[in-house]
Amino acid sequence: KVRVRFAPSPTGPLHIGGVRTALFNYLFAKKHGGDFILRIEDTDQNRYVAGAEEYIKEALNWCGIPYDEGPDKEGEVGPYRQSERKQLYQHYVNQLIDSGNAYYAFDTPEVLDGHRKDHEAKGKTFIYNWHNRLKLSNSLSHTKSEVEEKLAAGIDYVIRFKSPQDQTLVLTDLIRGEIKIDSNILDDKILFKSDGMPTYHLANIVDDHLMGITHVIRGEEWLPSLALHKLLYDAFSWEPPHFAHLPLIMKPVGKGKLSKRDGEKGGFPVFPLSWNESIGYRDAGYFPEAVINFLALLGWNPGTEQELFSLDDLINQFDLTRVNKSGARFDPEKTKWYNHQYLQSKSNEELASLFMPALLNRPIKSPSLEYVTTVVSLIKERANFVSDFWNLADYFFQSPENYDEKAVKKQWKDDTAQIMSDVLSILNTQTNFASSELEDAVKTWITDNELGFGKVMGPLRLLLVGALKGPHLFDILEMIGKEEAVTRIQNGIQ
Ligand code: GLU
Repeated sequence: KVRVRFAPSPTGPLHIGGVRTALFNYLFAKKHGGDFILRIEDTDQNRYVAGAEEYIKEALNWCGIPYDEGPDKEGEVGPYRQSERKQLYQHYVNQLIDSGNAYYAFDTPEVLDGHRKDHEAKGKTFIYNWHNRLKLSNSLSHTKSEVEEKLAAGIDYVIRFKSPQDQTLVLTDLIRGEIKIDSNILDDKILFKSDGMPTYHLANIVDDHLMGITHVIRGEEWLPSLALHKLLYDAFSWEPPHFAHLPLIMKPVGKGKLSKRDGEKGGFPVFPLSWNESIGYRDAGYFPEAVINFLALLGWNPGTEQELFSLDDLINQFDLTRVNKSGARFDPEKTKWYNHQYLQSKSNEELASLFMPALLNRPIKSPSLEYVTTVVSLIKERANFVSDFWNLADYFFQSPENYDEKAVKKQWKDDTAQIMSDVLSILNTQTNFASSELEDAVKTWITDNELGFGKVMGPLRLLLVGALKGPHLFDILEMIGKEEAVTRIQNGIQ
């Protein structure tokens, strides 16, 4: 059975790159009738951020990609927080020491720093590996009793992986195919520290194994760790899972990957984690369906022209072999387009209730939901977000606060005030203030008087709306009603 996991470290808010990783894991699991597991990788206490775990859960929940097992949803292989699995890892690291695949190292940070600097001075990079390890202080360069003495004396140590020498490692990635790595470029990564905590590498492999993970789907930034991870599986004599590294998400323009510093351009998180982050997708008014849809197409393509996908469509069509190797460029305009599409697909009632709170906050007479629903039906076509509604529809709720000066200059002629006053009389005599009746009356009058539509419609719109914007003018008239229409025209021509 397919089992995949999303394994974030709770070090801050979830950015869209992380959500995309979660999504691809989720899609792959559901496509194959498998399980999607959430595992919190919180072994690095220094980078731990309070609230980050709750945040991750809330973000996945908002996106609509629930996990089958994870913190607060215990399954058979829990707990799902690495800090709660602490006692487990010691056993496995000991196993690696016993089999000669790992060793104790006692070098102080100062000594290592010194080596780094010496190398740098010669234009080289210091690597703690087969070439250097015998010159350093560790259980490979000391006698057994020296090592025991140091351990007994409580000297700080780390446990390092003993990377092989002169081997060509052949790694397989489901997206990238075969990758060959010269083992001599690998350093002896730290697996365990004397505070009893494993590092990411050890905990990740042990947990993936114990949790029965069949496929590791993660960001390309982890590709450099693949060699070590494969070696660890071999050292434990465990069958490794399949690996798939997702392409980076690139900045909209220029080089480099999208980062949180790209904020408004799309790097922002699902929602802010703390007061010092301004905004996230949720707050910006994105619908979760839109976020899911645009994320799915960042690095994956269906092989067709289809752009709009429900989560079910995605589950049906998702295929790791259609994930690209090269970086996926983030397009903020396209992102908005997606939200636009989903906004159009919502019912007017639903949109009206989303718009309502903002209206109730304004110093206007509270409109009925029915009225707002009709307003929404008239203007939503031009909106990407519910937050665009007010600017598109303010005149349905209040008379214009001012008139667009440029438009006034162009539209307002010497005879305009008189014409508007004539229109006013026509409107005043209308008993049925319905869009089509009004349209008939005004248009008949225009034709009868050979006035030309431009002389009438532009100025009338200005008086009612304040600018040359908005839907069909007679729909607006019907909506605001006779009394309000008359007042607006009167105020405008005084
Ligand atoms: N804890 C790692 C992260 O924060 C997990 C990487 C992996 O999926 O192996 O992304």
